[in-house]
Amino acid sequence: MNIILLGPPGAGKGTQSDYLRDTFKLTKLATGDMLRAAVAAGTELGLQAKQVMAEGKLVSDDIMIGIIRDAISDQNCPNGFILDGFPRTTAQAEALDVMLAEVGKKLDFVIELKVDDAEMVNRISGRFSCKQCGAGYHDTFKQPAKAGVCDSCGGTEFSRREDDRAETVAKRLEAYHAQTAPVAGYYAKTGTLKGVDGMAEIGEVTKSLEKILGEKKAA
Ligand code: ADP
Ligand code: ADP
Ligand code: ZN
Repeated sequence: MNIILLGPPGAGKGTQSDYLRDTFKLTKLATGDMLRAAVAAGTELGLQAKQVMAEGKLVSDDIMIGIIRDAISDQNCPNGFILDGFPRTTAQAEALDVMLAEVGKKLDFVIELKVDDAEMVNRISGRFSCKQCGAGYHDTFKQPAKAGVCDSCGGTEFSRREDDRAETVAKRLEAYHAQTAPVAGYYAKTGTLKGVDGMAEIGEVTKSLEKILGEKKAA
C-alpha cells in the first residue's frame, strides 16, 4: 500500500505517519527528516539544503526528486511507503507519477490533513521531539506520559527545530500557500484525493485515517 499524506507545516503529518508506519508496516519517507539528517551529517546534500531550510524556503525539485527516486525502491519499501512532506510542488507530483509508472507502482491513497493557519502556528510553536528516536510531542497537545521521558524509547533528551521559530514559520506558511497548496488540486483532478479534518484531536484524526485505509489493514 502506497500513501501520500498532504498538509501544511504542523498539520500532523509526522504524528499520523508514525502511527500508519507502525500499524500498516509501511516505510515512512519523510523528506524533512531526511534533509535534517543530511544537514546534521554534513553531507553534500546537507550543505546544499541547510540555508534554504533555515530561510523557510523549499529545496529544489531536482534534489528532492532524486532523493525520492532512490527511496521508493522495493528493497527499501517492501510493504509500500507513506510519503510525508513530498510532493511539495506540482512539479514534484508530476515527477512522482512518472517515477511510479516507470517502476510499475501506484498510489493507493492521497490524503490531505486540513488545518487552518492559526492552528498551524499553535502546533508548530509547541512542537518538540525525542533526540534519540524522533518521536514527536507538543507542549500542550501531546506531552510524554511521564514528564521528560520519551514514551517510545525512554530517552530523556528532546530538541526543537530551528525552523520552528516564529520568524521562519511565517515564511514556511507563505511557501506552503504559494507552492504546496496546489498539490492537493493536482490529486483532486486525478480523483485520488481524500480530505480529513486535521483540526480534530490526534486520536480522532487517526480514526478518520483508519476509516479511509481500514479495509487494507495488515492482519
Ligand atoms: P513540516 O512537516 O513542518 O512542514 P518538514 O520537516 O516536512 O516540515 O520540512 C522541513 C523543511 O525541509 C521545509 O521547510 C523545506 O525547506 C524542506 N523540505 C522538506 N520536504 C521538501 C520537499 N518535498 N521539497 C522541498 N523542500 C522540502
Ligand atoms: P507535520 O509533520 O505535519 O509538520 P507534526 O505531526 O509534527 O506535523 O505535528 C505538529 C505538532 O502538533 C506536534 O507537536 C504534534 O505533537 C502536534 N499535533 C499533531 N497532530 C495534532 C492534533 N490533531 N491536535 C493537536 N496537536 C497535534
Ligand atoms: Zn524516543
